[in-house]
Amino acid sequence: MAAEVRQRLTVLSGPSGVGKSTVVAHMRKVHPEVWLSVSATTRKPRPGERHGVQYYFVTDEEFDRLIADGELLEWAEFAGNRYGTPRAEVLKRLESGEPVLLEIDLQGARQVKESMEGSQLVFLAPPSWDELVRRLTGRGTESPEVIERRLAAAKVELAAESEFDTTLVNTSVEDVARELLALMTVSTGE
Ligand code: ADP
Ligand code: 5GP
Repeated sequence: MAAEVRQRLTVLSGPSGVGKSTVVAHMRKVHPEVWLSVSATTRKPRPGERHGVQYYFVTDEEFDRLIADGELLEWAEFAGNRYGTPRAEVLKRLESGEPVLLEIDLQGARQVKESMEGSQLVFLAPPSWDELVRRLTGRGTESPEVIERRLAAAKVELAAESEFDTTLVNTSVEDVARELLALMTVSTGE
């Protein structure tokens, strides 16, 4: 594949609770021209989530088959469930010149960096550690034990920031979405 096609692949990653889903939901609404990859997952749908919109919800057997048939661009286990990016649709969109955004975890970001030359890795960082704690706690969906586990994981994820090409600080969702769009559409002159 030509370099000028692959450079449009952008990966957004960052610690749990930083606001990745919020940024992606905003992008979906305000910048529908950016194509957001829909991942496959073995996790059960949360209320309001629909098959084919937030995720393709698949069984363990189906996920095994996707791996075996090489249909995933990358995949990882996260908090007891498996998540992966379907390869074919991403390649099709890139070939047609559309900007493509993947919102995936750190392990997935590392795989994309290895396998997709020219991809752009964007790290979403919290304004401060205290604010990350506030956001994770403020969601109100997790027990204190789970929050502690996620915060421990967040420390590891924050330490990986230097592996990324760019950091965006999520102070304002609107600002991050604007900056992300600018990064995705900038020409490298190749
Ligand atoms: P992630 O997908 O990274 O785990 P979420 O998108 O679920 O994170 O966001 C975690 C919490 O932080 C949510 O309650 C969300 O409303 C809040 N949040 C996200 N972005 C911001 C922001 N820029 N300012 C304040 N709160 C935010
Ligand atoms: P959640 O269960 O909260 O929707 O997602 C949990 C984690 O899985 C998040 O960090 C999210 O970025 C990550 N994730 C979602 N889809 C994929 C994927 O296709 N591949 C990888 N590696 N991670 C993913």
